[in-house]
Amino acid sequence: MKQYDLIIAGAGPAGSSAAIHLAAGGLNVLLVEQKKFPRPKLCGEFISPECQDHFQKLGVARAIACAEPASITETVFYSTRGHHVTVPSSWFGPSVALGLSRAVMDELLLRRAAESGVTVIEDANVVGPLINTDTICGIKIRVDSTEQEYRSPLTIDATGRARILARKVNQAHKQKPKLVAFKAHFQNTRVAPSACEIYFYPGGYGGLSSIEGGSSNLCFIVGAEQVKRCHSDPERVMREFVMKNPRAHHTLDPAHTSSEWLSASWEHFGRQSPAPAKGLLAIGDAAAFIDPFTGSGMLMAFESGELAAETILSHRRNESTEATLAADYIERYRNNFGSRLRTCSLLRRAAFNSRLTELGVTLFAASERFRNRVARATRSPANANHHSV
Ligand SMILES: Cc1cc2nc3c(=O)[nH]c(=O)nc-3n(C[C@H](O)[C@H](O)[C@H](O)COP(=O)(O)OP(=O)(O)OC[C@H]3O[C@@H](n4cnc5c(N)ncnc54)[C@H](O)[C@@H]3O)c2cc1C
Repeated sequence: MKQYDLIIAGAGPAGSSAAIHLAAGGLNVLLVEQKKFPRPKLCGEFISPECQDHFQKLGVARAIACAEPASITETVFYSTRGHHVTVPSSWFGPSVALGLSRAVMDELLLRRAAESGVTVIEDANVVGPLINTDTICGIKIRVDSTEQEYRSPLTIDATGRARILARKVNQAHKQKPKLVAFKAHFQNTRVAPSACEIYFYPGGYGGLSSIEGGSSNLCFIVGAEQVKRCHSDPERVMREFVMKNPRAHHTLDPAHTSSEWLSASWEHFGRQSPAPAKGLLAIGDAAAFIDPFTGSGMLMAFESGELAAETILSHRRNESTEATLAADYIERYRNNFGSRLRTCSLLRRAAFNSRLTELGVTLFAASERFRNRVARATRSPANANHHSV
């Protein structure tokens, strides 16, 4: 049994970034990750411009630049009928957006956490929380076939949409997944080199953009029923759904995969609890899963990791109780993320409905000002007065 000031389950962008901030604040942190890094990860791999500020603060900006990510200056949304509308990256911040594989980005963040003094255990499955009466006081992990226990007064669930700890505490049963996503790297696409292209098609949408090394990343979402009808064959789903979009047909027709396909399924988007139990906070996708068409899930992972770290460090200085800390984190979380999550739940209705998507693209194309407002409403309120047109 080992004791830490704080334990974080999951080393995606949320977990690793929170660990770096907390170690910089003087805490003795344990970070436990299921996979051995580097590992591929299902994601659109579009890194929103604001993330570059986070890379600076986390001390990985140089390493990220050395990985030679693609520069992405605009996102172009294509409707099923081929109409399109553009959102410049400059609306979200002074830097460009980046295209970099998650294998590279997540590895750089994890290694940086280890350099910052965080104890990192990879290849270890967090199987559940340790509970003392009704308070989480650590975690149980499985490495090979042995179980180990680690204790801490506060634990963070950063296991993404799996929400391993939160689910175990609240005995939540997995519902039948409604949506399935697929992702693979491609060579020889016709995607515009500095654009992230989003394709809508009946029942879902997908994104194609350049990443490092001249490859492109394709990531798309469809209904679970549609996937079943294609016998779960990603190439067939891509041809029968994604390539129904004329622009996707053009960009993907000459392309071929250069990686394995990855897939993932889930029940719903949106919020979970940022403080699911006594002694447990949630960050990143474990707290709320924002719609991928916003290209801001990683940004929310960095922002919520930083927010949790700031809250924990300030309450530690004031020696407040766990209940005060949790209440403060919930409040700050709502102030930071509430309005963008509400905006996305409205936009989502159009994203999965071809007629509404067509109407939306036409409306957004008609007014740059309206498009700018809505695009910025999917980001931090702190950014709301900047980059308006
Ligand atoms: C289809 C799709 C496309 C997307 N495209 C984009 C995009 O282009 N840009 C963008 O910004 N966002 C995108 N996102 C969202 C983005 O991927 C997430 O918001 C982001 O990865 C959240 O980071 P996280 O650290 O919270 O979780 P994750 O990145 O999911 O990390 C969780 C970590 O926890 C680990 N873990 C899980 N279970 C356990 C366990 N039991 N024990 C130990 N470790 C565990 C996992 O291995 C993983 O490393 C997309 C999401 C989807 C589904």
